[in-house]
Amino acid sequence: LRAPDGTTVPTIFAEMSALAAKTGAINLGQGFPDEDGPAEVLEAAREAIARGVNQYPPGRGIPDLRLAIAEHQRRCYGLQLDPERDVLVTAGATEALAATLLALVDGPGDEVVVFEPFYDSYAACVALAGARLVPVPLRWPDFQPDLDELAAAVTDRTRIILLNDPHNPTGSVFSREVLARIVELAERHDAVIVTDEVYEHLVFDGPHVPIATLPGAWERTVSISSAGKTFSVTGWKIGWVTAPAPLVAAVLAVKQFLTYVNGSPFQPAIAAGLRLPDTFFGGLARTMREKRDLLGAGLRSAGFDVSEPAGSYFTVADAAPLGAADAVEFCRALPERAGVVAVPLPAFATAGHRDRYRTLVRFAACKRVDVLEDAVSRLAALR
Ligand code: PMP
Ligand code: GLN
Repeated sequence: LRAPDGTTVPTIFAEMSALAAKTGAINLGQGFPDEDGPAEVLEAAREAIARGVNQYPPGRGIPDLRLAIAEHQRRCYGLQLDPERDVLVTAGATEALAATLLALVDGPGDEVVVFEPFYDSYAACVALAGARLVPVPLRWPDFQPDLDELAAAVTDRTRIILLNDPHNPTGSVFSREVLARIVELAERHDAVIVTDEVYEHLVFDGPHVPIATLPGAWERTVSISSAGKTFSVTGWKIGWVTAPAPLVAAVLAVKQFLTYVNGSPFQPAIAAGLRLPDTFFGGLARTMREKRDLLGAGLRSAGFDVSEPAGSYFTVADAAPLGAADAVEFCRALPERAGVVAVPLPAFATAGHRDRYRTLVRFAACKRVDVLEDAVSRLAALR
């Protein structure tokens, strides 16, 4: 089944997780952690439920979470936000993305520049908003955009430049030069920058540089993040938008009719999480870096060519040295062959560009060390 924009229905994540469940294979496909997040955060949610924080929260999110988000942006990045006007809580980054695109796209002539491959909801939301998607390719093995291709993609028709940094599915982190070029092009063509930074605390050679901190960027940038990856609670669906007040107001106007509000007892818990000491955030990145190294070494010794991600949950490997001609077929067969599930990279590209990523496969490293070790030893059988 295919949606009008070419994305698969069910999503590639649903298909591959179902395959993992059916075959009992280790699921390195869908990116979700297999360990709980910090005990304080879990306890704060239980406590909020017991305290009766169970009805509709305010439309913008509870004041204390908005304050905690503003404090976090100042502590980590030196950004000064007004928690009353510059912050909006959403049902995960997914809703933030949908509401932002629906709010800011004016009509069918509008274009949204997106770096390809991309997280699968991007093309679906661009299609829902009635805009045209203009992909800029990221290529193996460093997955940085070519600056000339980027410049050629941005025109006066561009309404939004949408980036994801650190990047899913490739694990790349955009260089400062690339970020500066995006800002320059957005200024020149009066486009809005929308940045999805859900992996902000999973940068391995930090610090993370939000594009909103670059000169000239803040005024035209909608920054999106979420609690799912930072606190290992992907099912809670607490996300947020930070931006200048008029942009936040536009996103809120849409969000109110998508979900209205969400996750009341989880909101105080995430406020507590955002106030955890720097050692928590540093430890998260360090642990994921160790997992990246373990997975990367295992994939290499199984015979894959492997790109070295600078952030996120993900590592991309080329299965061509193992004789694969098609990543989709390779991933469909992998559970039977090796007892492991992974996701084909072509699933993250538009139909006309899937060939660029023909033999590339995405593996998620956000699993327990013993699970990764088991997966790596199973993959060794491929050789
Ligand atoms: N953007 C990217 C790049 C992601 O990887 C994810 C999570 N899988 C999301 C958005 C969605 O985040 P959330 O679960 O907070 O809706
Ligand atoms: N972000 C996760 C991934 O890319 C999960 C996505 C999903 O299940 N929709 O694997």
